Amino acid sequence: MSFSSLGLSQPLLDALNELGYHTPTPIQAEAIPLALKGKSLIAAAQTGSGKTATFVLPILEMLSKGETQRKKRARALILAPTRELAIQVNQSIETYGQHLGLKSVAIYGGVDYAPQKQQLIEGVDIVVATPGRLRDLYTQRSIHFDEIEMLVLDEADRMLDMGFIEDINKIVDTLPQNRQNLLFSATLSRQVRELAKDTSPDAIQLSV
Ligand code: AMP
Repeated sequence: MSFSSLGLSQPLLDALNELGYHTPTPIQAEAIPLALKGKSLIAAAQTGSGKTATFVLPILEMLSKGETQRKKRARALILAPTRELAIQVNQSIETYGQHLGLKSVAIYGGVDYAPQKQQLIEGVDIVVATPGRLRDLYTQRSIHFDEIEMLVLDEADRMLDMGFIEDINKIVDTLPQNRQNLLFSATLSRQVRELAKDTSPDAIQLSV
């Protein structure tokens, strides 16, 4: 099994090759072809399983296709529980997407609003955010969700444990209905399944 057989195009294959990644992990092998077909997915995935690339690669592939000009408004939104994870996911986007020219931003609390607002004004393709700060920026009309085509909930169980359910629901309510949803969680507890049902009723649950 190779990354090229999953349906990824050359700029992403080049980046993976430069990183020395030759074989997809089990979750990547199962999820990436489905995600590239536009399917919504729910997966039980631990840190270390390669879950970040599992959603970042399809996002980069989908957003790099078709569009000749970058829109100012974000087309993919990734929600993560902590600042550290948001920064790490954003770094993965920059690494895997280094040959693509897409722009991403990490949004999280505990720091000034101004630099984050400035980046949003300049225009981004992908937003990686913690739910609380993102909701604040939405309330302040600093971010618009009308172009969102893909939503990722990363470490959904941790986001619920940290009390983000209300923020997540408020944000998801404002997103376009017609979008692809990818949910990752270490455990698929009852609460996580409920969140999955609410945000993504048509999602396929992966077996890996
Ligand atoms: P994650 O589970 O997303 O936190 O990823 C765990 C680590 O595995 C990260 O350092 C990734 O860069 C790395 N990684 C992801 N996919 C692969 C792969 N197919 N081959 C080798 N390393 C990988």
